[in-house]
Amino acid sequence: MGLTAALPANSQPRNESCGRSGVALQVLGSGGPELAGRASASYLIWQDGKARVLVDTGAGSALRFREAGGKLADLDLLLLSHLHADHSADLPTLIKSALFERRRRVLPLFGPEGGGQFPATTEFVRRLVDPKTGAFAYLSYYLKSGLLSGYELRTKDAGGGSGAPEQVFQADGIVATAARVVHADVPALAWRVEIAGKRIAFSGDGNGRNGNLEKIAEGADVLIAHLAVAEGTHGDELDYHMDPSLIGRIAAQAKAKSVVLAHRMTRTLGQEDAARAAIAKSFSGAVMLAEDLSCYPLR
Ligand SMILES: [Zn+2]
Repeated sequence: MGLTAALPANSQPRNESCGRSGVALQVLGSGGPELAGRASASYLIWQDGKARVLVDTGAGSALRFREAGGKLADLDLLLLSHLHADHSADLPTLIKSALFERRRRVLPLFGPEGGGQFPATTEFVRRLVDPKTGAFAYLSYYLKSGLLSGYELRTKDAGGGSGAPEQVFQADGIVATAARVVHADVPALAWRVEIAGKRIAFSGDGNGRNGNLEKIAEGADVLIAHLAVAEGTHGDELDYHMDPSLIGRIAAQAKAKSVVLAHRMTRTLGQEDAARAAIAKSFSGAVMLAEDLSCYPLR
């Protein structure tokens, strides 16, 4: 009997072999906001054994990051799609844990501008770590440049102006491009990361109806799309999320090579075959269903 066979049926296997060589995408959290056995949204891009780019930090992602074998000292870039708790709740956990890895390099963090009930990402971080008013004010001591005992968290807002795709980061072989998407009234971004000739697109949460996701996902090796509503859904939920048919149409229009379905919610579990069929009406590439720690090497 192998080791994994001895694990309880609901335990998540560790997967520390992802991204040892070349570029790989690893899903840290394949769930949404429900407490339903999956970590919330979070995705990690590996290159040659290093955890280089983290996209979203939903609840449980910090635990999965470590299970995946990632080191916070290695991270070059942190991107947030929006500031719903299921995409951002583990941010302070990750910020703090990096101190114990003696991180000293600047950590760039990008997220959406503010709007409605949502602060801009710079303000969100300030409310966490401001030395006087931050919820975790004590962390401010460690998050300044030039310290021997901490690192600078350099936060910027993205997706301003028209919200059209805009390159916001380029360094050390990584290019990141943001575009505004529509998640009802929640300021939200889709992201594209280009690394070592590979192109990885993240839909974030969005209804797919402002024309930007097609552009962000153009020619992507993989598009991570959110399976948050079942095919046949009507009503308000379609202001927040794409149904599978629309995911398929966008992936086809973008000429993406493959699609990973994540942000899987209770209402879509058991509906996977219908989702695949709806996507296949317009998209003929590979479609994968993400679990926590699923690893997708990009060859
Ligand atoms: Zn979400």
